[in-house]
Amino acid sequence: MSQLTAEFDCPYCGHSNFSPVDDVSGVQEWTTDCENCCRPISLRVRVRHGEIEEMDIDREQD
Ligand SMILES: [Zn+2]
Repeated sequence: MSQLTAEFDCPYCGHSNFSPVDDVSGVQEWTTDCENCCRPISLRVRVRHGEIEEMDIDREQD
């Protein structure tokens, strides 16, 4: 088992962020803070066969 890295732009400030993703097939959802503006970003990643197949980035909903 290894780890993948999701690269995404912050929906608030556009800063490039990186976040580790487990190399497990399926959908993973979590929230992380932008390393630049520290605002919460909602991530949804679909992993299949050890690769990131699909990634949705959104602002955290209240
Ligand atoms: Zn940001």
